[in-house]
Amino acid sequence: MKQPGVFLNEAKIRARVAEMGAQIRKDSGPDTPVHLIAVLKGAFIFLADLARAIPGPVSLDFISVSSYAGKSSSGEVRLLKDLDRSIEGRAVIIVEDIVDTGLTLAYLQEILRARDPKSVKTACLLSKPSRRKIEVPVEYIGFTIDDRFVVGYGLDYDEQYRQLPYIGVMDGD
Ligand code: 5GP
Repeated sequence: MKQPGVFLNEAKIRARVAEMGAQIRKDSGPDTPVHLIAVLKGAFIFLADLARAIPGPVSLDFISVSSYAGKSSSGEVRLLKDLDRSIEGRAVIIVEDIVDTGLTLAYLQEILRARDPKSVKTACLLSKPSRRKIEVPVEYIGFTIDDRFVVGYGLDYDEQYRQLPYIGVMDGD
């Protein structure tokens, strides 16, 4: 099977994730527990690295959604796996692999805000602003990229390539 070409290498990702973790702790205050909510499956590797880059108290949980474009351009998002624990009163950070149209994130922010957390922020590794269909706030962005289909570091193409240690692009893309 052909290996995707390197788009962002391991060293760049590691350095940026370290910066993001430090910034999250700085913004949250030294003793505030940060509750990370990773969006499965794409965010699992980013979560593992980001969680270890945030000094001080961190807890985490997982949520899973499936997004599919409906007949309207607004798309639809479905909850596949809910959180295990309540987020009431917690400083929540949604951990997402990539924000594309923004529809998934807008849905997640809405349902999580309704559960009375202390705050809801978002950290995404990648953002493709040219693809947005809905304005959605993202406090921490790893890398802003053009409209290219990327794989690796948790991101798949037909469930392949998630385990790649770097972010890659397929040939011809
Ligand atoms: P959105 O709701 O923002 O359009 O979709 C976000 C989701 O679409 C991401 O969590 C990811 O699963 C998928 N996605 C968007 N762009 C890419 C991409 O370039 N590569 C991969 N592998 N998935 C993507």
